[in-house]
Amino acid sequence: MSETLFSKIIRREIPADIVFEDDHVLAFRDIHPQAPVHVLFIPKQPIATLNDAIPEQAELLGRLMLSAAAYAKSIGVAENGYRVVMNCNGDGGQTVYHMHLHLLAGRPMTWPPG
Ligand code: 5GP
Repeated sequence: MSETLFSKIIRREIPADIVFEDDHVLAFRDIHPQAPVHVLFIPKQPIATLNDAIPEQAELLGRLMLSAAAYAKSIGVAENGYRVVMNCNGDGGQTVYHMHLHLLAGRPMTWPPG
């Protein structure tokens, strides 16, 4: 895959408001937040889309989900609730081709999404 700006954020070559990091996952605030809390959880190992994830990366995918849940708990929004979203390819609304999980919280979410 060709590199995206998220790889530059991982390497600290462009700034981001990083809220969580471990050996596998980086999380930072979305530059155009769609909710009072809007954080992107990305694997440090770049994977373009969910379509490109392989069974050996199942643990990594789980780490994204669990990191988002832990962060939601840590900032006190878990009990009220939140949404996690992973957009895939054009119809899914993906614009950055480094797979990422959106955590949205701090307001009621509508369903179905637009
Ligand atoms: P997607 O549309 O691919 O699911 O989500 C990409 C997200 O990345 C968008 O919500 C967009 O606002 C965010 N984004 C794009 N460029 C940057 C950037 O340079 N910094 C940060 N923090 N977020 C970005």
